[in-house]
Amino acid sequence: MSNAKLHPDTIAVHGGWRADPATGAVAVPIYQTTSYQFRDTAHAANLFALKELGNIYTRLMNPTQDVLENRLAQLEGGVAALALASGQAASTYAILNLCSAGDNFVASTDLYGGTWNLFANTFKQLGIEARFVDPADPENFARATDDKTRCYYAETLPNPKLEVFPIAEVAKIGRKLGVPLIMDNTSAPLICRPLEHGAAIVMYSTTKYLGGHGTSIGGAVIDGGNFDWEANAKRFPLLNQPDPSYHGAVWVEAVKPLGPIAYILRMRVTLLRDMGAATTPFNAFQAIQGVETAPLRMRRHCDNAAAIAGFLAKHPKVTKVIYPGRMSGEPRRRADAYLKGGFGALVGFELKGGVEAGKRFIDGLKLLYHVANIGDARSLAIHPASTTHSQLSAADQRAAGVTPGYVRLAIGIEHAADIEADIAQALDKV
Ligand code: PLP
Repeated sequence: MSNAKLHPDTIAVHGGWRADPATGAVAVPIYQTTSYQFRDTAHAANLFALKELGNIYTRLMNPTQDVLENRLAQLEGGVAALALASGQAASTYAILNLCSAGDNFVASTDLYGGTWNLFANTFKQLGIEARFVDPADPENFARATDDKTRCYYAETLPNPKLEVFPIAEVAKIGRKLGVPLIMDNTSAPLICRPLEHGAAIVMYSTTKYLGGHGTSIGGAVIDGGNFDWEANAKRFPLLNQPDPSYHGAVWVEAVKPLGPIAYILRMRVTLLRDMGAATTPFNAFQAIQGVETAPLRMRRHCDNAAAIAGFLAKHPKVTKVIYPGRMSGEPRRRADAYLKGGFGALVGFELKGGVEAGKRFIDGLKLLYHVANIGDARSLAIHPASTTHSQLSAADQRAAGVTPGYVRLAIGIEHAADIEADIAQALDKV
């Protein structure tokens, strides 16, 4: 069945699967196996030569993982996907699939701290330069681009600033210069589809809203199939020059019978083969369970977050609420342009009384969990100045959007009145 015309809510439940061909099982089975019996030697030879796509070994592919990949590709409007062990593995591979030592890429300054570390330190160790630019002015991406720039990278809805990234503006600049935009859409699945705005690649930490229950680490990269790697052959030697690790295959040529999947196929058959950040069949299954209800949950997350942002805005101890739906000017325009059906589940607020007030609030919570996570069905809270951002100087904290009294909430799917009551009683103790 072609899912091209189905709504996201339907794709989330059906995409990539009908029933198990061997048993008729309706739920996607957990194919807990390392390896797969070849039909005969010709079949085996074809699989290894990529003349036929099929299962070889679970480090490279797995039927449970395959359903998750198909479903995510369909949800995003992409052509193919690769599920990985974590969001960190996904961002690592997304960049390493285009960059070698001596290359650079341009990244938004507004990034998850783990991504920042990976880009600023580990990639530096590999000889790959991340050039960080302020996304408030999209032209900063053009200014930082040179002949060695292989891609742009940003988050749709980055916390703690929660200012939506100018996806179409930067994608357009990149397409003129022959540079693809990779979007981390972890905080905004279903409410934003970056490929529709010109991004070339989407990545996720499925650990968050897609998985949705705070049980399983996972990541995914989705290939939009909408970027012409051949037209910019000099910029992408890894896709356009013979690959010595794969019998001299030129990826843009090799995939021609299979569709525009050079980027994601190379990622699977070289990076995943060599570095092995494979997801487990069980975690892929958990992610599938999450995706099935993600459209419902995202609506509830967004509605609850809007209600909590409204409550906080009226509270006398709160000096500022950081929430896309309450912003004005350009940040609000971007939120309206890129987020549909809600402004996400993340709500920041600043408390009078700085660090001590922030800590007292957190210690006063009874229902909300104090954890360094987002995207759980449960409501979560953290005080960045004393935790995730405590190692930064005061100036760097401010640049990251973290003031001493800043609290980040990741609003869950409980009843909004109960979330509000818990926040209210914790605020009373500040
Ligand atoms: N991207 C974003 C926006 C995140 O919030 C996170 C984790 O917090 C990651 C990537 C990394 O994902 P994971 O923890 O699954 O490796």
